[in-house]
Parts: sequence; C-alpha cells; structure tokens
Amino acid sequence: MRINENILISSLTTMRLGGPARYVLEVETPGEVADAYGFAEQYHLPTFPLGYGANTLGHDEGFNGVIIINRMRGITDDFTADGARLKVMGGEYWDNVVAHACEKGLTGIEALSKIPGLAGAAPVQNIGAYGQQVSDTLESIEVYDVASRTYKTLSNQDLKFDYRESILNTTERGRYFVISITLKMKPGEMSRPFYNSVEKYIADHNIKDFSPASIRNIVSTIRAEKIPDPLEKASSGSFFHNIYLSDEEAEKAEEKGYPVFRGKDGNKINAGWLIEKAGFKGKLLNGIRVSDKAALVLINESAKSYNDLAKAREEIVGHVYDKFGYWLKQEPVELQ
Ligand SMILES: Cc1cc2nc3c(=O)[nH]c(=O)nc-3n(C[C@H](O)[C@H](O)[C@H](O)COP(=O)(O)OP(=O)(O)OC[C@H]3O[C@@H](n4cnc5c(N)ncnc54)[C@H](O)[C@@H]3O)c2cc1C
Repeated sequence: MRINENILISSLTTMRLGGPARYVLEVETPGEVADAYGFAEQYHLPTFPLGYGANTLGHDEGFNGVIIINRMRGITDDFTADGARLKVMGGEYWDNVVAHACEKGLTGIEALSKIPGLAGAAPVQNIGAYGQQVSDTLESIEVYDVASRTYKTLSNQDLKFDYRESILNTTERGRYFVISITLKMKPGEMSRPFYNSVEKYIADHNIKDFSPASIRNIVSTIRAEKIPDPLEKASSGSFFHNIYLSDEEAEKAEEKGYPVFRGKDGNKINAGWLIEKAGFKGKLLNGIRVSDKAALVLINESAKSYNDLAKAREEIVGHVYDKFGYWLKQEPVELQ
C-alpha cells in the first residue's frame, strides 16, 4: 500500500478544485483494502474511496481524512457457450474495458466508450450514455464491506440500479469499497433504434457496420465533438441529472412545448436543453464556463475556488427553476 500525505484534491479530480487531503492511500491488493480502512480507524479519520476523480468535486478546505484509491488493474476473460464473463479489477481504466470488449466482438458496453474513470466507480452511479448503462451487463461486484470488515460479492439485483443510482451512492454510500466488477456479455450487436445522435451519424455517413467496434468509433467521434477531454479542459462531464417525469408530468410538459423524450428508461427532459433555454449556453460565470457545445457540461476555465463553482451552480439552478419549475440535481459527488 502506498501512503501519501497532504495531496491536493485538485490534482486527483478532473474539475481540478480542492485543497489538501491529509492521506491518500493507494491499494494494490484486495488484502490492502482492509489495511487501508484499518489505518483510517487507527487515526480516527473519515474515509473516501476515489477513482479517477471524474465525478468528484473537492472543497477548498480539503479533506481531513483518508482517500483510498484502487490501483488493482487487469481484465480476465472467461468464455462460456453463450458469451463471456469479463472480470475487471476496479483500478482498471474504464475505457480500456470497453476497448477490450469491442476487440472481442462483445456487445453491451460499446456505447459507454470514452467515459472517463476507473472500472470500480462504474457501478457507483450506474454510468450510462447513448442508450446503454453498465447495469445492463454487470453481473456482480467484489467488495470490501467496511461495516462487517469482510469481503463479499454483491449481485446486480443487490445493487438496486436506477438512473445514475445504485445502493453505492444512496442507501449504502461509503459502506463498500469496490475491488472488482464482473460483466456478462454476448457476441453480437446493439439493437436498433440507436440513440438519436448515433442514428443521425449513421445516416449522414452511410454506415452499415453496427459491430461493437464500429459503434465505439461512432460514439467516440460524437463525444469528441461535444464533450471536453478532461486532460485538456477541467470538468466533471454532465453537471446535472436529466429530469425524469411521470406520464402525467410529461403530458403537462409537452403542453408547455418542452421537448420530452419517451425512451425505454422513462420520460425525460434533457437538462442541457433547460440550461440552454435559460440562456446560459457558452456563458462564463465566476470562471466556470457553461460549454457552448453541450450546456450540461460546466468547464472550470479560471475558477479560483469551490465557491466560484457553487455560485455558478446556484445561478443556473435558480434561473432554470424560475423559468421552467424544475430543480436541477447535481451529478458529481462532493468529497467531504
Ligand atoms: C468529460 C466527462 C464526461 C463524462 N461522461 C459521462 C457519461 O457519458 N456518462 C456517465 O454516466 N458519466 C459520465 N461522466 C462522469 C464520470 O466519468 C463517471 O461517473 C465515472 O464512473 C467516474 O469514475 P471515476 O473513477 O472518476 O470516479 P470518482 O469520481 O473517483 O468517484 C465517483 C464516485 O464513486 C465512488 N468510488 C470510486 N471508486 C470507488 C471504489 N473503488 N469503491 C467504492 N466507491 C468508489 C466515489 O466515492 C464517488 O462517490 C463524465 C465525466 C467527465 C469528466
């Protein structure tokens, strides 16, 4: 286990904000996870499991506690009669997992290409994009249970997945440290219709190949045009959740002329549309730029502190509520 002291959270998170963390422990074996929690207990300090920091916001005062990062990497294939199981260590970079599955012709996660982060964080908020979510293929995860100090396997059902939700970021937040994830995948292709922007790209470029590798290429190209690379521009990706509506609410919204998408996962209004129509697209608020390509993405251009971000967030949330009557819910997690 590597023990680091006084590490700036801004250097561990893609929004690049946040003061020093007292300890950052990097665990390299399952056994070291228990050691890391034991270390925190010994010093009576709170803990926070961190991956790549692509969905986490640091605060100016830092974190007087122990950040634990999974550094276990590797993907193991187990081919079965009807497909394959991929066991992925939680410290593996997520996009390597997608690339690996696509190379093997396995379908299920190709639309999740280029989502920044580590595999261990993928089930936490049930990452999703372009019509797929990790919960569609995730079979189980191996965890360290901080409450009982034991190693366990949790099944897909145990995790109670929903839109950007699982027990890991709701009822049992902080209880489990994800060691590895197991995906169950099949050879084949995603079924049509694809997400609107993918269908448009296919039509515009007359594409006939819908293999996982081809969809990966398409999604990667679409994302590169719209979503900033966290290595070039500081952001946490989508800053707010989309708004999900009951059938009754969806009808009311449509009567008001709001665009409601009725998909497999329910009725939704794109939060980016609300932000754009509230007049924020491309605006700079306290050093935080509302992306001019995707209004749901907030970019830290020159913010000096977490407070700058908080002020920008409040301005956007307040205006969207005044104009449309919907409260936007923040997606990234606060490291505190
Ligand atoms: C440019 C950009 C684009 C993005 N696009 C998408 C997208 O299309 N779809 C999408 O769903 N998300 C997207 N995101 C958000 C982000 O990529 C995902 O949430 C990703 O899963 C975060 O992984 P991470 O390793 O960075 O997690 P972190 O930010 O490090 O952690 C996120 C949460 O998971 C917990 N966690 C991390 N590791 C563990 C572990 N081993 N055990 C237990 N808990 C853990 C943390 O405590 C925290 O609560 C985007 C982000 C960026 C910056």
